[in-house]
Amino acid sequence: MQKGNIGVTTENIFPIIKKFLYSDHEIFLRELVSNAVDATQKLKTLASKGEFKGELGDLTIHVSLDKDTITISDRGLGMTAEEIEKYINQIAFSGANDFLAKYKDDANAIIGHFGLGFYSAFMVAKRVEIVTRSYKEDAQPMKWTCDGSPEFTLEGTEKEGRGTDIILYIDDDCREFLEEARLSSLLRKYCHFLPIPVAFGKKKEWKDGKQVDTEEDNVINDTTPLWTRKPSELKDEDYKAFYRDLYPMSDEPLFWIHLNVDYPFNLTGILYFPRIKSNIDLQKNKIQLYCNQVYVTDSVEGIVPDFLTLLHGVIDSPDIPLNVSRSYLQSDSNVKKISTYISKKVSDRLQSIFKNDRKDFESKWDDLKIFIHYGMLTEEDFYDKANKFALLKDTDSKYYTYEEYQNLIKGEQTDKDGNLVYLYANNAEEQYSYIEAAKNKGYNVLLMDGQLDVALISLLERKMEKSRFTRVDSDVIDRLIAKEDARTTDLEADKREMLATVFRSQLPKVDKVEFNVEAQGLGENVAPILITQSEYMRRMKEMARIQPGMSFYGEMPDMFNVVINVDNKLVKEVLNNSETECAADLTPLNLSLADLNKRHEELHKAQEGKKAEEIPTADKDALEEVEKKMADEKAKKESILSTYAGGNKVVRQLVDLALLQNNMLKGEALNNFIKRSLEMIG
Ligand code: ADP
Repeated sequence: MQKGNIGVTTENIFPIIKKFLYSDHEIFLRELVSNAVDATQKLKTLASKGEFKGELGDLTIHVSLDKDTITISDRGLGMTAEEIEKYINQIAFSGANDFLAKYKDDANAIIGHFGLGFYSAFMVAKRVEIVTRSYKEDAQPMKWTCDGSPEFTLEGTEKEGRGTDIILYIDDDCREFLEEARLSSLLRKYCHFLPIPVAFGKKKEWKDGKQVDTEEDNVINDTTPLWTRKPSELKDEDYKAFYRDLYPMSDEPLFWIHLNVDYPFNLTGILYFPRIKSNIDLQKNKIQLYCNQVYVTDSVEGIVPDFLTLLHGVIDSPDIPLNVSRSYLQSDSNVKKISTYISKKVSDRLQSIFKNDRKDFESKWDDLKIFIHYGMLTEEDFYDKANKFALLKDTDSKYYTYEEYQNLIKGEQTDKDGNLVYLYANNAEEQYSYIEAAKNKGYNVLLMDGQLDVALISLLERKMEKSRFTRVDSDVIDRLIAKEDARTTDLEADKREMLATVFRSQLPKVDKVEFNVEAQGLGENVAPILITQSEYMRRMKEMARIQPGMSFYGEMPDMFNVVINVDNKLVKEVLNNSETECAADLTPLNLSLADLNKRHEELHKAQEGKKAEEIPTADKDALEEVEKKMADEKAKKESILSTYAGGNKVVRQLVDLALLQNNMLKGEALNNFIKRSLEMIG
């Protein structure tokens, strides 16, 4: 029997392995099973070259559990005593501590760097045995034992067949790995697609009311996963079945892209566009990264473009350096090429579905758009491609490309300054009446109700020349798109002011809400009162909600424009009625106001252009006095009109209806409205 020290410079690497790789203990299984796979594949290669002439036989790798041990057995090429000495005992381990300190959170980097694959066994085992017999004729079977100190023993042993058994005596604090369910789920995670069959126990069946083992090996992996096969041999059903295998809980995917390149880098994979039911489904880390069918990670940030991390599927590439830190990864030129390639593949594929089956593309658009918009917002190159197939959907559920839409609205929706005005709604139900008004006017209204639409609108405004987006309820219809022949109203200013005062008096006082009331002619078929909110203000507030530095806007009250339509029959009646009803009270006030106005004008003129110290105090006081009186009279007027309006059910009803239409009539006010309505009917 030979005894010796493992060739490391550090006194004892095992505590280090344990300590630093703590969080990733479970990868020991991946490391040991993939070593077994490697050994098996090497033997197959030797056989194909004629260097191994024996029977390959059943090459299944077996993972088995005992009370205190996990054993991984392969029928690969095995090791001779010299090979154990060379490959197991001599571990290069220079500058270990520095490196470990630097990458302590990245087990993959450490393991890759040191070729520590095999030694990861000591993360979970207090003692490890290798029982191995080389494929070489007359090779002496060997047993290597190590208990976690740098000392090992190596001795001759008995072993029936060719290959290697790795026996792990599991540490007391790692006994979780001895549970069948735990090991089984780890095998699924790390070994699901390994290219050599891996068996874990026997297949089970129900017998006499309980599960019993059958004779058949329970093979846990699919050795030729879909991405390794030729796309030409595969049917849609195969892709769907593979998706179900990967994500048993998900709905059927929208479609998929089979990636397959071997130059200038090697990469295969399948990316799926998932069907998103809600935001909760929208998750990163759904793409799995493999290296020659060995599972590596489900965190692909830096490898695929950010917007595609929302996709599902697998990527397999031996050219992605795994044993480096994430930050390094992003500057790696191969990785950059891979990322660009994937992005291009995705846009090509979308483009081709759009071209070849527009109907299908349209039917999937609503599910698809979040990915496409995210890509357009984050990747310049993707935007340049996607703007040819990205769609706009209108409120009649018709779809247009950007170019088609431009042509559609060019005629009607260009304003007097030559800007193309895109009208949109973000809630077809709530903005129904505004949408109808716009349609009646011959305008088209887009439906922009996606999560990223606010950001998309700003992007499109930046990208498209002389174009502007305006929500359909951001102004009265005549002013939404300013035209040369804008409607003017010939109703006198004082009558308009009177109407505004009457209706203003009945608007509710709401915290942080301001109403700006004006009377305008909007046409006789338009509603009596319209409430709008300016596009600019609303956007500022929306942005304040998502951008921290803009809270100033968030603090500002919501400002609404309330337009009283003087052309509407009901409003005309209110005007006539209020004029007659209030005449007795208002006439003296109006006369007095007319006098005051005249006086004010005279005084003002006399003082105009003079410096403050040149004006006699008496004159200043006189002006002040007049102004005060005017304010008093106006207040009286307002109070008269307000009392009148308060007793006028029509006014109150019209105000409430306008509020109701904008979802602003709530609580007590809503209750009062209903009561009043019932009275009026009854
Ligand atoms: P790596 O696999 O990165 O080379 P490891 O530490 O995992 O590093 O393994 C070191 C070497 O030990 C392997 O390269 C291989 O030569 C040998 N080895 C490990 N496991 C086996 C096995 N099951 N059968 C044959 N050789 C093995």
